[in-house]
Amino acid sequence: MTQTYKLLTPGPLTTTDSVKETMLEDRCTWDEEYKQLTQDIRHRLLEVASVSADDYTAVLQQGSGSFVVESVLQTALGKDDHVLIISNGAYGNRMIDMANAIGKKVTEMRVAYDAVPDFEKIEEIIEQDPSITHVAMVHCETTTGILNPLAPLSEIGKRKNVSLIIDAMSSFGGIPIKVNDLGIDYLISSANKCIQGVPGFGFVIANKEILKQTQGNASSIALDLFEQWKVMDVDGKWRFTSPTHVVAAFQEALIELDEEGGTPARYQRYKDNNNYVIKHLKELNFQPYIDDEYQSPIITTFLYPDKDFVFEDFYQYMKEAGFVLYPGKLMDTPSFRIGNIGDLHHKDFVSLVDNIQKYMNERD
Ligand SMILES: *Cc1c(COP(=O)(O)O)cnc(C)c1O
Repeated sequence: MTQTYKLLTPGPLTTTDSVKETMLEDRCTWDEEYKQLTQDIRHRLLEVASVSADDYTAVLQQGSGSFVVESVLQTALGKDDHVLIISNGAYGNRMIDMANAIGKKVTEMRVAYDAVPDFEKIEEIIEQDPSITHVAMVHCETTTGILNPLAPLSEIGKRKNVSLIIDAMSSFGGIPIKVNDLGIDYLISSANKCIQGVPGFGFVIANKEILKQTQGNASSIALDLFEQWKVMDVDGKWRFTSPTHVVAAFQEALIELDEEGGTPARYQRYKDNNNYVIKHLKELNFQPYIDDEYQSPIITTFLYPDKDFVFEDFYQYMKEAGFVLYPGKLMDTPSFRIGNIGDLHHKDFVSLVDNIQKYMNERD
């Protein structure tokens, strides 16, 4: 198989040929072998999350990542519950929109896109409003590439006895997260990010004791995570048709994650490549939007180097060189993004930087 473009995007991303080849077989949803495949995936996901099957369960859910976020908000929040949603980007904002749209009780805490939340302020908000039962936050805000620290939120969760919902969509599998130690009750991610599968479903690593108490909370049938869990937990049969090709590809992607050395090894690869890109782009006068301290190894937002820089022109040039870049998502600052996740290796980033250098020279 030939790889036409390297996707420097945060998912869908560049997958291995072996992941793609898994999809050449058609599979039957009620067949025993396929049900076992689902169970194997659920088991492997708990290992990636460093949790025991006694305490946690992995529930798979059809749709893109947002469908899974919505299913958690639907299901985790009962009629007497109240969620504090912290946002410093488009995905945090989307959680706020979802929780409002489905009629949950929400308090918003909006933070500048280039800043991590003030955790003392979070604690204050919870202290002043004891009706808050849940806190939701994005781990790696893919909008900018900022990494919101989990440890301080975890401490607040424990001290204040609030339940934590973490959108780890673009970090799980690429950044080690000790879900149990951090006291995360719902961790959400999807097939087409750091596990390096293809798009079509997402999953939740959920605290079983907590999930057990959520029956009847959802005002949706398809996005009821409790019912999805109950059915899937019997023998690995999904409720409603599952994306069989995508599921099989995901199992292969999980095997390949393991072969690479698990999340710590993948993290190192992403981090090294991210450092390489940032170092060399800075030399070419592209400044990262996020301070080093909070920059994730997943994706980086770069500001345009000068007012003559035309992103569309640059984008086309890089595409011809075999790289697909990602436009920026900042309202007030012209920017673009370079992702590090996917089946991309040092040599790809050497070639990327060479081509960017060439573009900048030819442009002048
Ligand atoms: C990708 C992503 C999502 C989900 O987006 P979809 O387009 O629905 O897959 C949610 N949150 C974050 C942080 C993401 O990176």
